[in-house]
Amino acid sequence: PDTHFGFESVSVEEKEGRVKQVFQNVADNYDAMNDFMSAGLHRLWKDELLDMTGVGPMAKAVRRRASTSYASDVAASTDDGAGDEAPILSILDVAGGTGDVAFRFVDAAGCQERAKSSRRDEVSVTVCDINPEMLRVGESRARARYGPGVMDDSRALNFVEGNAQSLPFEDGSFDLYTIAFGLRNVTDVDMALRDALRVLKPGGRFMCLEFSHVTNAPLAQIYDAYSFNVIPKLGEVVANDRESYQYLVESIRKFCTQDELASRIESAGFEGVKYTNMTGGIVAVHEGWVP
Ligand code: SAM
Repeated sequence: PDTHFGFESVSVEEKEGRVKQVFQNVADNYDAMNDFMSAGLHRLWKDELLDMTGVGPMAKAVRRRASTSYASDVAASTDDGAGDEAPILSILDVAGGTGDVAFRFVDAAGCQERAKSSRRDEVSVTVCDINPEMLRVGESRARARYGPGVMDDSRALNFVEGNAQSLPFEDGSFDLYTIAFGLRNVTDVDMALRDALRVLKPGGRFMCLEFSHVTNAPLAQIYDAYSFNVIPKLGEVVANDRESYQYLVESIRKFCTQDELASRIESAGFEGVKYTNMTGGIVAVHEGWVP
């Protein structure tokens, strides 16, 4: 069934407005519904993304360097001395919504341990999302999970409102850019990819976790039946919002294939582009590096 609710047939402004409305509607139920609809699989996919980023080991390495040879350089380069040095591993999670991916980075990097010392962390994780409702839920989850430490004291975790197409950050600000289940919702995907390249440092890494196209025919049949028949119905019964979940299904179907997305990432200017399918291609992680 094609109800054009994947928003590809409407104008750019209209798509943006409707996507906003969808996430405004689902913000409070978003996490519970994610678990419910994917039978918890989204957690495994996000864990896998975290492993692929290598943030845990990387954070350990930057801290080790910071505590030895870098410590004196960093302290010397700031006006107000230790405690306010710039982070040396900066991660941006775009379309970060309620913080699921960012919390994995904060946990893997041990930011909450570091926050106890009330010093600015060497690792910073920024969640950027266009929707203030999703950010509101994310911030309150973060406060419940970590207390004020990682947000107010060490400033390791930040929430910023912004559009993936024109991010509110300077050129070359981040080492790692992630976007999970977000790129599909952006109105101009190519513009977002070019802006990802802009905000990353030279040598920085782009990683996108997104629903993709199932590569195995029997699984595709089961998956289609589940998505088109079960998901909108569940949305209606559980969240009293069939339309938002119908959008979810149709936007997945209409989004580009693994190979198409890889070539769009290359066209934006990334190098070493590749993808990894998970769960038979239900989702894929695409990655690329800034030359
Ligand atoms: N990354 C989170 C996760 O995996 O749980 C949230 C994913 S949610 C399906 C999609 C998110 O994309 C929503 O929070 C929505 O507000 C955000 N979004 C949609 N269009 C956007 C844009 N142009 N710029 C930034 N965020 C956007």
